[in-house]
Amino acid sequence: MPREPRPFREGLLSLDPPRLLGSRCPACTVTSFPARDFCPGCRAAEGVERAELSTEGRVHSFTVVRQAPPGVEVPYVLAWVDLPADDVRLMAQVVGTAPEEVALDMPVQLELTPFGDADEGLLGFRFRAGVAA
Ligand SMILES: [Zn+2]
Repeated sequence: MPREPRPFREGLLSLDPPRLLGSRCPACTVTSFPARDFCPGCRAAEGVERAELSTEGRVHSFTVVRQAPPGVEVPYVLAWVDLPADDVRLMAQVVGTAPEEVALDMPVQLELTPFGDADEGLLGFRFRAGVAA
């Protein structure tokens, strides 16, 4: 029987609404993803809070992956995505457009996606080309 949907790694995302969960330092406002217990900006070890991150991203840079292990569909786009509202950069797959159509600074939207065996109920994340409707 399929299991309840849950993040592939505890604390990485919230499901409803879909959000990445990072951490933010109240002292210097530096935001991290994944969440950390200390601030990489000012090294504060206390007071760092969990924070839901923006779902609006921009492609900072990307590569088109054309070789992968059996069972992984290629080509796919792997990108460094900036979340301008949070000043966070993270690596993720970009879908919803042909690899040759991906461009620097292209707007992308966070979406959750099944991760691994569907029956496990694990969810990961990726970004979809385009802006929110
Ligand atoms: Zn800080």
